[in-house]
Amino acid sequence: MYQPNLKQTTLLTLLAFIIGLGFLIATIANYFASRDTIRHSIIGTELPLTADVISLELQKDLVKLVQVASAMAEDPLLLDWVDQGERNTKLITRYLQAIKKRYDTSNAFFASDRSQIYYTDDAHQPMRPDEPAHHWFYRFEGAGTPWEVVVDVRRLTLFLNYRMTASDGSFLGVAGVGMSLDRMRHLMDTYQRRYQRTIYFVDSQQNVVVTGSEAGSEEIPRGAHLSDIPALADLKQQLPELRTGSFLYRSDGEQHFINIRYIPELKWYLMVDKRESNVMAPVQRTLWINLLIGFSVMLIVLGLVGSISRRYLQRIEAMAIHDALTELLNRRGFGLVAEQAMLEAKRQRSDLCVLILDLDHFKTFNDTYGHLGGDFLLRSFARLLAGQIRQSDLISRWGGEEFVIMFKDTDLATALALAEKIRAATEAATFDFEGTPLRVTVSIGAAQLSPGGNLESLLGAADRALYRAKNGGRNQVCSATGIAAN
Ligand code: GH3
Ligand code: MG
Ligand code: MG
Repeated sequence: MYQPNLKQTTLLTLLAFIIGLGFLIATIANYFASRDTIRHSIIGTELPLTADVISLELQKDLVKLVQVASAMAEDPLLLDWVDQGERNTKLITRYLQAIKKRYDTSNAFFASDRSQIYYTDDAHQPMRPDEPAHHWFYRFEGAGTPWEVVVDVRRLTLFLNYRMTASDGSFLGVAGVGMSLDRMRHLMDTYQRRYQRTIYFVDSQQNVVVTGSEAGSEEIPRGAHLSDIPALADLKQQLPELRTGSFLYRSDGEQHFINIRYIPELKWYLMVDKRESNVMAPVQRTLWINLLIGFSVMLIVLGLVGSISRRYLQRIEAMAIHDALTELLNRRGFGLVAEQAMLEAKRQRSDLCVLILDLDHFKTFNDTYGHLGGDFLLRSFARLLAGQIRQSDLISRWGGEEFVIMFKDTDLATALALAEKIRAATEAATFDFEGTPLRVTVSIGAAQLSPGGNLESLLGAADRALYRAKNGGRNQVCSATGIAAN
């Protein structure tokens, strides 16, 4: 039976190592390359693009609010009404209602400096400098800028305050409109949901002021200070002061990408955050699938190489110990198996005999019928031999037209009897070679293993017996001690 030898195991291990290593390096290099590409695209393109879209939307709303508020502040109707002493409040209410409706704002207002009254589209009330709700008016009056944006974080409304001045430049009050941030938040929600990112606004004091109406992939609580959000600890450490740019930080053992953009009109920072695993999951899945496929292929290849090489080795090994012409064991094969049988016989103290058989005048067959005829006779004789012996006996073509048979557990007398049976069967046989009947005789030398003997001495004794059989006239069996009965 064939045993996988060391060389084959080494070959397969080496093959597995080379294929496995090559494949592993290629797959991992590929993984890192795609990871880098994705990272670059997220940092360089995706997140800034989201920030662009959201800040552009905001910009658009702001521009619209500035246009509406400036039109109000410069409206001759409103200026005249103020100039004439703000007498008919119904008029201003209707005016503000019309503005609100026309521009689809969430409110419209006018705060008068002369009367210290705050008019809205549905009410009016007096203003007092000591009332915190009206502080904005007095602050803006002193600020000197033509307009400003104020966000009511509680009501999530964006107000545009526009300075109204008389023709001589004196301060008349503040006209403006408010717009809900709902639309903005809706847009943020869409981006959060569709692209698995978290979007929020942070004011200059680093408080979270606006988030989407739904939480993004990270829970960022509105109203919290950035320092109080544990998930952002690493980011805060890198950026004690916020600034525009793209950054990497770690949270919960995971890589995050964040794009920060300063919106000067609001003095806010827009934050767009994305978790690496959200992007890398498919790439990692591909990595595992690739590894699985690669190793399966490797196992299949190794299995195939293993079984093919095993089969070839088996065949080569069989060829090495068998004779191609007769398919009997050759001298080498016989040596290997016979040595084993010898040791066994010695250990069990059992009898062991060998016969050496040599066809008589074989050369004449070659001369008469050609080499093919000779070969045919050799094959036929081998078949005849195989039919004469037991399964456990060893039979081999020793070389040329000489054969050796080893009988296990057999004494010389029995061996001689078997030899005689073979001799007689050979003499009686006729082999049909392409219509020509061939007949041949065989001379046989027999010997028994002596207690101190070995394979060499045993074969030597049988060979001497054969020599005597030949000398004695051929077609006979001789033992080491004498000529057996013919
Ligand atoms: P004897 O044994 O009776 O003394 O005579 P012999 O003619 O058989 O003598 P010898 O052993 O000298 O010759 C053996 C011949 O067998 C010589 C060789 O040409 C032939 N022979 C050896 N191997 C093969 C073989 O594989 N095929 C064929 N056709 N002939 C072979
Ligand atoms: Mg010979
Ligand atoms: Mg011969």
